[in-house]
Amino acid sequence: MTIKIDGKALADEIVQRVANDVSIFKQEHSIAPGLAVVLIGEDSASAVYVRNKVRRAEQAGLRSIEHYLSADATQQELEDLIDDLNKDHLVHGILVQLPLPAHLSENRVIEAISPVKDVDGFHPENVGRLVAGQAALTPCTPLGCMIMLKRLLPDLSGKHAVVLGRSNIVGKPMANLLLQANCTVTVVHSRTQNIESLCRTADILVAAVGQPLLVKESWVKPQAVVIDVGINSVLVEGKRKLVGDVDYNTVFSKVSAITPVPGGVGPMTIACLMQNTLKAAQFQLGMSLA
Ligand code: NAD
Repeated sequence: MTIKIDGKALADEIVQRVANDVSIFKQEHSIAPGLAVVLIGEDSASAVYVRNKVRRAEQAGLRSIEHYLSADATQQELEDLIDDLNKDHLVHGILVQLPLPAHLSENRVIEAISPVKDVDGFHPENVGRLVAGQAALTPCTPLGCMIMLKRLLPDLSGKHAVVLGRSNIVGKPMANLLLQANCTVTVVHSRTQNIESLCRTADILVAAVGQPLLVKESWVKPQAVVIDVGINSVLVEGKRKLVGDVDYNTVFSKVSAITPVPGGVGPMTIACLMQNTLKAAQFQLGMSLA
């Protein structure tokens, strides 16, 4: 029987655990771990994500501070704000909601964030640490996928994992985490030939391409575990609906386990952001990052 991986329930469990650790942190240090979320412009999807993050932060007992800049904010204004947050001892994690308006440089913004406060794990120092197998702040989405996978398959050693997509945010860090867990990893992307047959060799298939319902039943190996990172808004009979990169309905009965969209990877990403904020705060106050 196929397992529908309940990302929401697992995320609730993680947030509860973070909340317990946060209350210990507060007793020891007399402050709450602080998360600063910066939103530039009026992208409605980003505004929804930020609201969800703030709500979860409250549940976890974190102090969350939101900063809203207008869509025409300059690079300097944004970097000045990040500089202030880097220096603020009450802020332990900084998240700048991406994507940025086109006139701003994402790379410069990412590099401006102090690596110890980089709860998204996008700073080159954290990326390098992840690739080198050292303790790091790890990007939240792949981290959430790994937690789900390990819960399902405690020993991932020797499994063939195929990662669909090679973005800095999902595909590349996902591939590195799977490698660290001793999987044999193949990364496929928009220029890969024979994508379908490569995916069909996967024991674990992680889809992160942003292409609605791309992965069909013929793309998956029987009994594979499928993690669908995609969040795509599509029109169905005149109504907006969220679907993943995987054609869930046709794939479901062929695989051993699969994440739904919504309710799979999405909630885990936010839970891992809470976990990373606590970890960053603990590190800044003397604990190790491991
Ligand atoms: P991206 O656009 O930065 O990268 C997409 C990758 O997919 C690229 O490497 C590209 O080469 C590859 N690709 C595109 N079309 C392809 C095709 N037809 N065949 C093979 N490869 C193809 O996207 P991203 O930021 O990695 O996000 C991917 C998806 O995951 C999006 O739907 C996004 O909304 C979603 N996402 C979800 C979460 C979450 O929390 N659930 C977090 C981040 C991203």
